[in-house]
Amino acid sequence: MQYATMSDDGPKALEGMPNWYASGWPHVWLPYAQMKTASPPLPVVRTEGCRIVLADGRQLVDGIASWWTACHGYNHPHIRDAVIRQAGLMPHVMFGGLANEQALTLARRLAALLPGDLERVFFSESGSVAVEIALKMAIQYFRNRGGAGGSQFVTFRGGYHGDTTGAMAVSDPQDSMHALFTGLLPQHVNLALPTDEASTAALEQALERNADKIAGIIVEPLVQGAGGMRFHDAAVLRKLRALADRYQLLLIFDEIFTGFGRTGTMFACEQAGVVPDIVTLSKGLTGGTLPLAATVASRRVFEGFWSDDPRHALMHGPTYMGNALACAAANASLDLFEREPRLAQARAIEAQLWVGLASCHGLSGVTDVRVKGAIGVVELDRIDDLEGLRRRFIAEGVFVRPFGSVVYLTPALTIGDDELARLTTAIAKVLRAR
Ligand code: PMP
Repeated sequence: MQYATMSDDGPKALEGMPNWYASGWPHVWLPYAQMKTASPPLPVVRTEGCRIVLADGRQLVDGIASWWTACHGYNHPHIRDAVIRQAGLMPHVMFGGLANEQALTLARRLAALLPGDLERVFFSESGSVAVEIALKMAIQYFRNRGGAGGSQFVTFRGGYHGDTTGAMAVSDPQDSMHALFTGLLPQHVNLALPTDEASTAALEQALERNADKIAGIIVEPLVQGAGGMRFHDAAVLRKLRALADRYQLLLIFDEIFTGFGRTGTMFACEQAGVVPDIVTLSKGLTGGTLPLAATVASRRVFEGFWSDDPRHALMHGPTYMGNALACAAANASLDLFEREPRLAQARAIEAQLWVGLASCHGLSGVTDVRVKGAIGVVELDRIDDLEGLRRRFIAEGVFVRPFGSVVYLTPALTIGDDELARLTTAIAKVLRAR
């Protein structure tokens, strides 16, 4: 069966597709896609480990782990059993006025895993919402203390924090659809990461000038993911911590991509020895099974809300907050991090990615090859035919989904050596033939 471009082949592209696909396709709207020209999505009937099984029986080796969520591979029996058990007992009760064991257990475990006194967990159901909550927390923290309280954030070029309004506004203005939503998005102070003297001086000047307007600094620690898979040093994070302290701002680390072993440590901030005031988590939190996110605050931030005044309460409360099914999945995922050598696996992937992607150096159009933990990146000068490139990977039997100018791998931490070799070999082959 051929999976062609919808625009090339029109309804012919639906020939041979399962009934559910042909009848449902006219009613779905895909993410970030020009629906007229996008390749129709592949019909997936099953997943297993690092494999995606298509309706025609083909198996693709997955290089992306479903946007970096499925850290233990798909269908891990321990997570599946925990979810099934919880579904029989109690899938969900509201978090207002009612507590459930899975959510409270997860909160305790996250607080124990995170460094420093990051100990109060506010649950939500997606990464973007976790970021919105972090921003609101920071702003309200200062207002509760009686100050005028700034409402702006220092944000960074290449940063990406989600697609909701507040999260879009703290992402890179060039890459994050800002121009499309002029008028909707609040203004923030967007700068280059302080990686050298000039950018550090620019940041210091901006803080000096605007400190009274600014509530905090938000950054993805060590790796800016969706903004281009760019890496920076731990020293940058130490600098941000020092500046946040000097100007009395809150430091927010968005670990939605980097958390849960992706960079080789459980959380990226550990590599810098820096404890932020607020951290956001999602993606790997449930091992890629159910939507769940958390905004975790330090004791100091939480104490800023501790008062006899009801107006000092954190004003947020998603309907599915603390969902017991998702929290059961997350607890099971944390069991796996405890019982199985995930961080060692991430480091082994790092070593294999360096070797496997080395042959991409020097290929035409390749400007950089970089690896950090279980993240491998081949950067090109540009990619003209993104859809065509994506199709060539599928023809090689792998699911690799380049964006912007990068071809990247973020496989499950459990991926086998052979499967990882299939991915790196396919990248080298497809880029050589470009
Ligand atoms: N922050 C970061 C660092 C992310 O990578 C993402 C998702 N790619 C988000 C926030 C938004 O998460 P979600 O898509 O779950 O809203």
